[in-house]
Amino acid sequence: MLTDVRTPLMAANWKMHLSIAEGVAFIAKLHELVGNPQDREVLIAPPFTHLWPLREPMAAAGFSLAAQNCHWEPQGAFTGEVSLAMIVETGCRYVIVGHSERRHIFGESDAWIGRKTAAALSRGVVPIVCIGEKIEEREAGLTEKVLRRQLASSLEGIQVDAPEQLVIAYEPVWAIGTGRTATPVQAQEAHAFVRGWLAERFDKAVAKGIRILYGGSVKPDNVDDLMAQPDIDGALVGGASLEAASFARIVQYGRSGKSS
Ligand code: PGA
Repeated sequence: MLTDVRTPLMAANWKMHLSIAEGVAFIAKLHELVGNPQDREVLIAPPFTHLWPLREPMAAAGFSLAAQNCHWEPQGAFTGEVSLAMIVETGCRYVIVGHSERRHIFGESDAWIGRKTAAALSRGVVPIVCIGEKIEEREAGLTEKVLRRQLASSLEGIQVDAPEQLVIAYEPVWAIGTGRTATPVQAQEAHAFVRGWLAERFDKAVAKGIRILYGGSVKPDNVDDLMAQPDIDGALVGGASLEAASFARIVQYGRSGKSS
């Protein structure tokens, strides 16, 4: 079974929320609630300032640490930016690139996101490349066109030799922070499209193993149906990842009687 080779990745994107002390307490609580599950990977992307102090509690809990953004240059006069070498030094294995808030609030272009993705891969950091259409694009029937454009530019010139090197997150902009989730069918359609695109772009066996996360108002009460879809390999969770019990329930999707 192809899906069996893709370890589900349940990712918390804290955005600009929680203090360091709250983060430490969160990790302890989450660990208490979910343990260190072997059949799924738990990831947290806290703000930059939290990466170093959280790296030990995260490693001890067996969770993966991610940065929310990066710059593509190794160093230089880029006030306010953080390089991949700095991120690696804090113990991160992953970095989120091209989140819709970066694209739409901070004006990041497709070209920048491509440079970040390439730089992350060259440093051995796994990029979680976010793509997704706006509501007007979906209503105009442009979803696949937008996804194709974002995939092509984010991954331009990029070679991926092993599926673990890359994660894609499909996050429809209209579903982020709105409480309006894509239906499991809508999400599956988009994921199948992305998987097909990857299979044309990369080696087919590699494409089959690349994890594609869904993001956009994932909650304890909709995660089971989303994760039941064949091409949904995990979730990127914002609002519902800020409270340990809620995120624990999301991590434990598909396990009845474990809701907390
Ligand atoms: P949300 O955010 O779960 O609050 O919709 C998801 C994201 O932005 O990654």
